[in-house]
Amino acid sequence: MTSYATSKPHFRFAPSPNGALHLGHAYSALLNHGLAKKTGGNFSIRVEDIDTTRCTPALEAAMFDDLTWLRLEWQKPVMQQSKRFAIYQQALDKLIERELIYPAFMSRGEIKKHARVEPNWPHDPDGAPLYPGLEKNWDKPTCTEAIASGTPFAWRLDMEKALTLFPIEGAKDWGDVVLARKDTPTSYHLSVVIDDAAQNISHVVRGLDLKAATPVHLLLQNLLSLRSPCYFHHRLVLDEEGAKLSKSNKATDLKHLRDEGATLDDILERIDWDESELETLYQSLIIQST
Ligand code: GLU
Repeated sequence: MTSYATSKPHFRFAPSPNGALHLGHAYSALLNHGLAKKTGGNFSIRVEDIDTTRCTPALEAAMFDDLTWLRLEWQKPVMQQSKRFAIYQQALDKLIERELIYPAFMSRGEIKKHARVEPNWPHDPDGAPLYPGLEKNWDKPTCTEAIASGTPFAWRLDMEKALTLFPIEGAKDWGDVVLARKDTPTSYHLSVVIDDAAQNISHVVRGLDLKAATPVHLLLQNLLSLRSPCYFHHRLVLDEEGAKLSKSNKATDLKHLRDEGATLDDILERIDWDESELETLYQSLIIQST
């Protein structure tokens, strides 16, 4: 295995084209692009479009227009997750074989109902009630029969079992996370770790809103024998009220701002872009990788 410390750094920006890019995306993309330049490394865009109903070709095209307008340059070809379902399926099959995941049949509504009647039922860092994992005791024929019946289900990680192999701190908070669904052989967590490894990403620089998910990613990397990149979680760009930006808010949507005549400098001002912030991050990455 080569070490990231001795190979060229590789940064990425991995948006989901399920809505318009906003100022927060601009900040994240510019930060990764800037770090790649400073380190003499590579910068890639990855299209995270596993949700093939909400991600559309029109949104994807608009996303690339925005990124070009931001004067970013990235490696080609661009990796597109919707083309990689067969690869995710292979990883999933390995986890099934090792009995690290199990088919879970409770719907979101049923999980909520279950949580409501149990006192102090735990919730994950995103606020969703943890899965009770009732199916973990099912024997193989019962599972096979339930899958064959056509009822929707999700493949969930047996967190307890996974943590006995790799006790990663913080992963437990997520409980038995969904790694795939009946008709989609992957989830954000599964594809992001497979693709960061496939693209040889050395540094994942993304928003603080994804920090809590990182232990799940470290755990999956261990389970799948994938190399772990260095992680850094950057500040979030907030709106005037101090709230997190959303893809449906026109006021912070890049295309909308451009159409209103905003220049690149206006965008940099809106995101409080500061070269010294990039320099500080660069210095901390250098220290981490040596
Ligand atoms: N696709 C994710 C998003 O748009 C980001 C994934 C990541 O940076 O790990 O929120």
